[in-house]
Amino acid sequence: MDHFLYRDGALHAEDVPVAEIAASVGTPFYVYSTATLKRHFTLFDEALSWGDHLVCFAMKSLSNQAVIKILGDAGAGMDVVSGGEYRRAKAAGVPGDRIVFSGVGKTAEEMHLAITGGIRQFNVESEPEMVVLDQVAQSLGAVVPITVRVNPDVDAKTHAKIATGKSENKFGIPISRAREVYAMAARMPGLKVIGIDVHIGSQLTELEPFEAAYKKVAELTEVLRADGHEISRLDLGGGLGIPYARSNAAPPLPTDYGALIQRTVGHLGCEIEIEPGRLISGNAGLMVSKVIYVKSGEDREFLILDGAMNDLIRPAMYDAWHDIVPVVEPVPGAEQTRYDIVGPVCESGDTFAKGREMPVVKADDLVAFRSAGAYGAVMSSEYNSRPMIPEVLVDGDQFAVIRPRPTYEEMIARDTLPVWLD
Ligand SMILES: *Cc1c(COP(=O)(O)O)cnc(C)c1O
Repeated sequence: MDHFLYRDGALHAEDVPVAEIAASVGTPFYVYSTATLKRHFTLFDEALSWGDHLVCFAMKSLSNQAVIKILGDAGAGMDVVSGGEYRRAKAAGVPGDRIVFSGVGKTAEEMHLAITGGIRQFNVESEPEMVVLDQVAQSLGAVVPITVRVNPDVDAKTHAKIATGKSENKFGIPISRAREVYAMAARMPGLKVIGIDVHIGSQLTELEPFEAAYKKVAELTEVLRADGHEISRLDLGGGLGIPYARSNAAPPLPTDYGALIQRTVGHLGCEIEIEPGRLISGNAGLMVSKVIYVKSGEDREFLILDGAMNDLIRPAMYDAWHDIVPVVEPVPGAEQTRYDIVGPVCESGDTFAKGREMPVVKADDLVAFRSAGAYGAVMSSEYNSRPMIPEVLVDGDQFAVIRPRPTYEEMIARDTLPVWLD
């Protein structure tokens, strides 16, 4: 569910007509709904209300300061995967004891930053990382809480680029070697083992892979406890998918997911952490773009938009589907046609959709990409020297720019000439 609906013939973001934002900030742009962000966080929070828990928003899906502030103020923790994300979380006022640090390549500098700034736990992904973390912790006279990320070798049945829980993936340690790695951690004076971490992938549209992984985590909890380790926290990762095409069957809801967690690991008495990203931010955002040209090809019509793959890379990168709708509501029975929907970037990968059936539109019309809040703005670039597009936040009947579009001068001024060319 989201808060981008047609009202009086016009697409609205909550109570604001999308066309009004376009007139104010220009196109293309991202727009986010405060109500949707809060609602999705609350759904997860309530789904785990049967026990001690913390919902940590996976910041990599959408890391604008305003978004972090909304979720942080609502009580969310943050799952960060870099020193940059850690700094963003702190800058938005999230306390260190609600920040979890994930990722396979944490550097000693990032560890130092998080230990001195405060951290809830590190999710350690390898033995060499554990050695470095122990050294950094000891050098600071600290004992840092850790979980070890285990790779349960479960097929998440999602796009290969976002599956993370199979043995061939770079993430975590093989679950078969967990006892050995936990024994190693227990001998390190700078570390305090507190739990287990698992994250099997993103955009999962079934519960079975989660179930398989969480059952393995439950078994491992018993084994590690018998070995004498304290396992009091289970970080179960993120990954619950969203319906990108409205015509698709809806994926499982957070309530079903919460019930699954209770069923598989609830009896262990652990504090539960989850790290949803996409399900909180995905449907909370649109990318709005303008039609530049409608061009007739040999056997097809091209809809050439002012938004491109550098602004929203998901279709090019993950073969992702986004519903693309006119901002002016089509009248019932409006003429439909098929378009190849493309951007102006000079490569064929800059294609958002092929043969997409949609209402007829013309040059200067606005269209909206639905479900563009997650892995949209955060993955954008300035390829083809197209300045990063602005982000806008709506709350009820108000809207504000939360990341302005840089000017061309600002974009160019980031390059510097070496003295010998100046
Ligand atoms: C990407 C990621 C998430 C969030 O995944 P979503 O599919 O957006 O929910 C959570 N945890 C870790 C460790 C991740 O890498």
